[in-house]
Amino acid sequence: MIAGIHPLPAFRDNYIWALIGDDGESACVVDPGDPAPVREFLDAKRLKLSDILITHHHHDHTGGLQDLIARHRPRVFGPAGIGDIDQILGEGGRVTVFGVDFTVFAVPGHTLDHIAYYHDGSAHGIPLLFCGDTLFAAGCGRLFEGTPAQMLASLRKLMALPPQTAVHCTHEYTLANLAFAAAADPANTELRERTAAERNKRENGQPTLPSTIELELATNPFLRCGEPELAASAAGRLGRPALDETEVFTAIRQWKDEF
Ligand code: ZN
Ligand code: FE
Repeated sequence: MIAGIHPLPAFRDNYIWALIGDDGESACVVDPGDPAPVREFLDAKRLKLSDILITHHHHDHTGGLQDLIARHRPRVFGPAGIGDIDQILGEGGRVTVFGVDFTVFAVPGHTLDHIAYYHDGSAHGIPLLFCGDTLFAAGCGRLFEGTPAQMLASLRKLMALPPQTAVHCTHEYTLANLAFAAAADPANTELRERTAAERNKRENGQPTLPSTIELELATNPFLRCGEPELAASAAGRLGRPALDETEVFTAIRQWKDEF
């Protein structure tokens, strides 16, 4: 069982998610880009690092690997193509951390190697998703390597998860994402309510994460490309109606890149 899940702030706006095992002695971290906040957390709580989960190859998600491996000798799970991974995972892969089973989804788009970790709630009470830089609160990752069609297919896998799934992404981009969402989806009242709530959290120094699939389906413009409001916004950008949902997604993603 997982006794607690903690966001460790790193760099300017990353979170390294730390899971504490119910033995009270072990921890697992997701995407340790910087070893320093992880070491501080482990020291403060007197924990040993037993496992590391990696979502993709970017340095802000992997930069702490060598230091943490040298100190703790954890098991390291992640996609192919990254040094220091003990067990390479792809679509349909499985990993068990503190007796909690995670299924792996391949979610290419931000990078081609990107994977996400999902637990169905059977052992933890609520379903858990660790999705790196694929799905953000009110946004999605930039397309550095994949195509819009690949990213949309990846997001659809996550959209199909239970609404109560707790979504753990790795960047605190929420307020900037919501500012864009308001431009792309201006009539969305839930979006306005969410923006007020998330602003409040940031003003009180709290993370806006985890989010839920339910909240993202209602307010994330990249998950709403099938809705007429987003199709209208895409048509405004294109100067003509979009041919399909992929073209809506492409237009909205390009607009966000320039926003
Ligand atoms: Zn990244
Ligand atoms: Fe990142």
